[in-house]
Amino acid sequence: MANNSIVAQDLVYSYGDLKAVDHISFEVGEGEVLGYLGPNGAGKSTTVKMLTGQIRPKEGRATLLGMDIAKETNKVQEHIGVAFETTNLYEQMTAVENLTLFARLFGVKADPMELLEKVNLQTRGKERVSNFSKGMKQRLMIARAMVNNPRILFLDEPTEGLDPVSSESIRNLILETSAKGTTVFLTTHDMYEADKISNRVAFINQGKIVALDTPSRLKRQYGQRVIKMEIEKEDGQIDIREIPLDDNGSADMVKQLLETENVVTMHTEEATLEDIFIEITGRGLV
Ligand code: ADP
Repeated sequence: MANNSIVAQDLVYSYGDLKAVDHISFEVGEGEVLGYLGPNGAGKSTTVKMLTGQIRPKEGRATLLGMDIAKETNKVQEHIGVAFETTNLYEQMTAVENLTLFARLFGVKADPMELLEKVNLQTRGKERVSNFSKGMKQRLMIARAMVNNPRILFLDEPTEGLDPVSSESIRNLILETSAKGTTVFLTTHDMYEADKISNRVAFINQGKIVALDTPSRLKRQYGQRVIKMEIEKEDGQIDIREIPLDDNGSADMVKQLLETENVVTMHTEEATLEDIFIEITGRGLV
């Protein structure tokens, strides 16, 4: 328990008759990246709003760094950072000015240049944010979420709509941050991203957590591994064969194909988190 940064116990939130979060419980360890994965409307933002003290749970409780968020909201907020799409930047101000202002609002001392360096924007500090690309704004939002040197960072779709290079640099930043001991609560509907950087992922559907484990264990538990072979026929057409890897007769089937057909490529493939989400919930993530 001592090493858990976040403990959510039986959280419930409803908007009128709609149960947006329906008895959710989980724990996130210190320095862990938890991917909180689900389609639009699943209840991700509502969960984060409860965890960050923006709304009060109707039932249950959330403890962050050993403190009840509903009771010690301000104290908890001193130690968390939140980068949500709705938290807008001041477009007419420079990057440095944005960070300086935010630090002042927070009542903390922060070195804007050091923060900009963390997100690789150190050469752009004096530029107005209105000139920034979407990727640069996302990185600045993360820098801003880190002004108080938070122990828990909440990130919402941090790479949505970004090019692959910017996305990769944000993922690396998240990994570096967690390696230094910061806990990261990452909400996303991008299963590739969740798979790549989360220690564990929680699948959330219709307000409930339907699975929570490491990506590799989820794949082993729910997914089927297959050997995929491309076979070239006499007329030059390519046939694709998939052979389940974990079946008894797999080895014989592979051997037979290799002996009798012109196998041009062969590799193993495992289920993606998206496949598993569909298997569990009967619906896709997007
Ligand atoms: P997600 O972040 O996974 O997209 P949300 O937590 O935003 O999901 O929403 C969960 C459910 O609650 C959805 O059905 C959504 O329409 C509803 N909801 C969210 N915010 C409000 C609100 N302020 N008033 C009424 N319903 C809301």
